[in-house]
Amino acid sequence: LLSLTGIRKSFGDHEVLAGIDLELAQHEVVALIGASGSGKSTLLRCVNLLERIDDGRIVLAGEDISDPRVDADGVRARIGVVFQHYNLFPHLSVIDNVTLAARHVHRMSKADATAKGLALLERIGLGAKARDYPDRLSGGQQQRVAIVRALVTDPALLLLDEITSALDPELVGEVLDLVRSLKEQGTTILMATHEMDFAREVADRVVFLDAGTIVEQGAPDAFFDHPEQERTKRFLTRLG
Ligand code: ATP
Ligand code: MG
Repeated sequence: LLSLTGIRKSFGDHEVLAGIDLELAQHEVVALIGASGSGKSTLLRCVNLLERIDDGRIVLAGEDISDPRVDADGVRARIGVVFQHYNLFPHLSVIDNVTLAARHVHRMSKADATAKGLALLERIGLGAKARDYPDRLSGGQQQRVAIVRALVTDPALLLLDEITSALDPELVGEVLDLVRSLKEQGTTILMATHEMDFAREVADRVVFLDAGTIVEQGAPDAFFDHPEQERTKRFLTRLG
């Protein structure tokens, strides 16, 4: 579904992504792990065309989306993203937050976006909160709303960047449960995470990034129990 080839990205003379090759099959869940500053967020931002890559190719469902002539809004309608900070608009109700981009950027009709948004909110038990404002919701509920917002346009691919790291520990579980159920429904997910237990449990594959290169990747049990590269071992040891 997604194919990254030779992705390079520098900020000034700092090369943050030094040639990344990565493939995601449809329905696959891939966890990106690595130390702070290793380039995880930058990679996700490149896939979503929030950053221009310096070199390489990004192909989504057969289309070269790194081609400068591509319609970036059209691409983003097919890629859902959720970041660490939920970034809901405080002055908009939950349902308006959920449907805003779908209606204005992705040109869904208000009726379609609202129906879809309400159905998704119902499914995660937040239907009754649709007309509330975000400050009436817990952090975990807000983050689940942000995930629903990313799903309204039926994206082919979901990018999740540390979606639990700003949450109180007792709220992490409900957000991870939602990701787990998305996986069961066959959503293709590329997620950066510091939650190693979660990566092990949900991901089909774990990819370890260090200084902008993929050092090692593999099925979670093999990766965590029998890492092969010294750099991977050091990273996992440091986590304790
Ligand atoms: P974390 O685990 O802390 O989220 P990360 O793996 O997501 O880290 P990135 O956010 O991708 O790391 O950052 C990689 C490097 O790129 C860092 O050194 C960061 O300072 C640098 N960087 C990221 N965005 C920019 C930018 N817009 N301008 C300059 N440098 C940047
Ligand atoms: Mg990051």
